[in-house]
Amino acid sequence: MSRSILTMSGHSPSPAPVPMIDLVEQYETIRDEIHEAVNRVFATQRFVLGDEVADFEEEAAPYCDARYAIGCASGSDALLLSLMALEIGPGDEVITSPYTFFATASSITRCGATPVFVDIDPATYNLDPAAVEAAITPQTRAIMPVHLFGQCADMQPLWRLSVRHSLAIVEDAAQAIGATYSGRKAGVLGTVGCFSFFPTKNLGGAGDGGMITSDDADLARRLRRLRVHGDAGRYQHREVGINSRLDALQAAVLRVKLRHLPDWTRQRQENAARYVHLVDAHGLSDYLETPGCAPENEHVYNQYVVRVRDGQRDSLIEGLRAQEIGCAIYYPQPLHLQECFASLDYCEGDLPEAERAAAETVALPIYSELGEARQESVVRAMAEALGVSRNLRARSISLPDPEKRAA
Ligand SMILES: *Cc1c(COP(=O)(O)O)cnc(C)c1O
Repeated sequence: MSRSILTMSGHSPSPAPVPMIDLVEQYETIRDEIHEAVNRVFATQRFVLGDEVADFEEEAAPYCDARYAIGCASGSDALLLSLMALEIGPGDEVITSPYTFFATASSITRCGATPVFVDIDPATYNLDPAAVEAAITPQTRAIMPVHLFGQCADMQPLWRLSVRHSLAIVEDAAQAIGATYSGRKAGVLGTVGCFSFFPTKNLGGAGDGGMITSDDADLARRLRRLRVHGDAGRYQHREVGINSRLDALQAAVLRVKLRHLPDWTRQRQENAARYVHLVDAHGLSDYLETPGCAPENEHVYNQYVVRVRDGQRDSLIEGLRAQEIGCAIYYPQPLHLQECFASLDYCEGDLPEAERAAAETVALPIYSELGEARQESVVRAMAEALGVSRNLRARSISLPDPEKRAA
């Protein structure tokens, strides 16, 4: 028995390499549709806004269950334009998460307001509503929840706070297109919703792009004005806006990809379910915490982020890299500890759950086309890196019926 364990371990082949994301594979499935759309734009030579962008907005709004969708140049600008439209500026505070992509917080400082970081819920990595409540001051004007990794923040308590304290809610839904909370879509869970079409997002363009959703007609009109320098038409500037338009080429590509988004999202969800099964089957459940999904949420898995127990995150990453398995840390340094926010006076230890998440988590490949064989490679590589493989083989060898093994 012990001899056969050694033999089997000694011959374990390295799993095949798996990239963190492979955009080429997806592109190849829609190549003709994309080229047709791009050619259509070139034929008209109308590259900025125009019918292509208007048509995309008309198709994207219902996808998000929103009355209005306004295209813009990036997700970062979507956040900035939203705060501008809500007239948030110097002296105002916006409460947000420290555990997110940088643009969430920089949009607040770019309009002159002050980001107030509060801690996250360790199960979902999203804003902790109790911490939000505790941070409200007379200067607070808005809450900016981030639907991190593709799962909506816990909105019900945030709605109550927004009503009680007259606060706007600006959703950073950059990672969450199509996600739902209690059956309602990300992007219409607050005053405005902000999306990114950065190529690695679930709906990714051929470059930068963004969008704002809202059910408020006045706000939508204002956002359309702010994205073109505040021009109300015929060069009449009632307020100062910015140049943040969506390109027609981006809109044309996004219109094609939007048609496939439900299928791609379903594949991501299937991949996520398969990881749970594989992690368990490979005996890794004691080492890794797979992503929690709150019962009221439908998660769209822009990222699949696991928590690694017992301080083994960095050695796991090293082991995965050695086996050419893609992985990434989202995010290694919480925003309250970034040098550029030093003047806000946060210290290490102030927001312990965000800091712990930054130290303990790793994102695994989850792209739609990933599929079972590559996921098996990822999980086998993790077992190898964590030193679990040997024990598991010992267990699986002891399972078969001795009679059959002899035969
Ligand atoms: C991607 C992202 C953004 C910024 O979007 P860009 O289009 O890259 O400007 C903002 N917030 C979050 C949470 C993101 O993931």
